[in-house]
Amino acid sequence: MKRQPAELANKTFDLAIIGGGILGAGIARDAALRGLSVALVEKGDFASGTSSRSTKLVHGGLRYLEQLSFGLVAESCRERTILLDMAPHLVTPLSLLLPAYEGDPRSLAMLRLGTTLYDWLTPRRHDATPRHRTLSADETVVAEPALPREQLRGAVLLYDCQMDDARLCLETVLDARRHGAACANYCQVTGFRQKWDHLEALQVVDQIGGQPFDVRAKCFVNATGPWIEQVGRLSSSKSAPVSLSPSKGVHLVISRINREHGIYFQSKRDRRMIFLLPWGDVSLLGTTDTPYTHSADAARADADDVDYLIGQLRELAPAHAIDEGDIITSFAGIRALIRSDHHRPSRRSREERMVASGGNLLTVAGGKYTTFRAISDKVVRRVSRMLGQRPAKCLTATTPLDDRRPAMRGELISDSPEVFESDVAFACTDEMAVTLEDVMRRRTRLALSRHGGAEVATRISHFMAKQLGWNETTRVEQLARYLLYWRRSSGGFQPPRK
Ligand SMILES: Cc1cc2nc3c(=O)[nH]c(=O)nc-3n(C[C@H](O)[C@H](O)[C@H](O)COP(=O)(O)OP(=O)(O)OC[C@H]3O[C@@H](n4cnc5c(N)ncnc54)[C@H](O)[C@@H]3O)c2cc1C
Repeated sequence: MKRQPAELANKTFDLAIIGGGILGAGIARDAALRGLSVALVEKGDFASGTSSRSTKLVHGGLRYLEQLSFGLVAESCRERTILLDMAPHLVTPLSLLLPAYEGDPRSLAMLRLGTTLYDWLTPRRHDATPRHRTLSADETVVAEPALPREQLRGAVLLYDCQMDDARLCLETVLDARRHGAACANYCQVTGFRQKWDHLEALQVVDQIGGQPFDVRAKCFVNATGPWIEQVGRLSSSKSAPVSLSPSKGVHLVISRINREHGIYFQSKRDRRMIFLLPWGDVSLLGTTDTPYTHSADAARADADDVDYLIGQLRELAPAHAIDEGDIITSFAGIRALIRSDHHRPSRRSREERMVASGGNLLTVAGGKYTTFRAISDKVVRRVSRMLGQRPAKCLTATTPLDDRRPAMRGELISDSPEVFESDVAFACTDEMAVTLEDVMRRRTRLALSRHGGAEVATRISHFMAKQLGWNETTRVEQLARYLLYWRRSSGGFQPPRK
């Protein structure tokens, strides 16, 4: 499955989607499965935006109960069950321990009440995500020795799911393509062709070949997450129909602290809930939630984010305190939150908003990764009506996303995550990987592991050079670019930009 931007240029599609994050990918797959002709363009790599920088949970979102978002939690719990069945190689069960210490903002009784409600909101329960249980303080420290025993009241053990967000997005795009959608990464929308306010085509520039071309369609969807307003300003109205107040979320990748359970603990400082999650042989610690006003392209962890997260871990488990030098790497994503009156980003709704403008453009903003399939269904139904058609039946809940990983061949490049030469070759030949970053960050999990540094990256750059026909100058450029990203993510964190 090669990258073929030319297939986007020579016809009029029913639907053209801007953005190859999970929402664009989900909409493309859903629409293609219903028989619509679909184009999807992504300015970078698929999932290079928010969709590879999440906490990687497919979850109901326990904390949204405090915002009384019962509908969102119920929908998310329903989707968790569907995604577990749809892509079991990418969405896996995860047990989470919620400890309650003396003086915590939420007592053990409150946690039990919340998780009971959480269970009620999951009527069709998957065997892999049983109901919650309460553990005594002694049982808690046996289950998770990293948690201090002192002042511990007990814990709630609940079941959610973890996902490989980058691969789920990529595999959704590839499956959309298998069902007939024309999808290309590294194709940036730079303008719209319009007659009055009616859109006729997207003006696109191929970022690899440099050629400009048009993508014509009857209907268009702007699914560009935190870039929605920027893309909206390309239209003749010079504005997007949805306003955002984005927030930044940072995660640190550190040595593995917890055993098999994730830990979901409370900050005594600001009441926020923080995750410490298992991720291969490392742990993910996150996340922050701070207002963000700069370009979404420049999002990265700064010194304040790092201090905040290190401080939270020190408060929870002083014996496992870390400092900046212990950070393996980090990642930052931008939440495309709909503008509202709440000054604290964590209080703003995670529900999606879909707005039509100009007769044939739909802008979709907000939402959670967990609910992408349900949101895509709503979008495609709306698109069908805009096309003057009765929406065909949605097939995404019953069409599995098969694991197509090739048989392992060649040398083992890394054991955790397990990456063979055959995986890198497959990424180049069948998964539209174009750059070293694509392979390190999104085709494999290497960039979120101990093996994300120069040694493995150099090896892979040589291997990709053979696969993709790079000359030595290109290989060295690719490596330098990736290593610059790696260095900035793993140390020398700068003070926040004002
Ligand atoms: C820190 C953090 C943690 C999160 N954790 C979770 C979680 O654990 N579980 C959960 O369910 N949800 C979580 N979320 C939310 C979830 O990640 C997002 O809802 C989801 O990834 C958004 O996907 P998207 O497709 O809308 O946006 P994106 O993934 O950002 O995709 C938009 C795409 O549009 C592309 N684009 C922009 N401009 C153009 C252009 N001009 N031309 C072409 N393409 C363009 C971008 O390159 C980008 O790839 C989290 C979010 C954050 C920030």
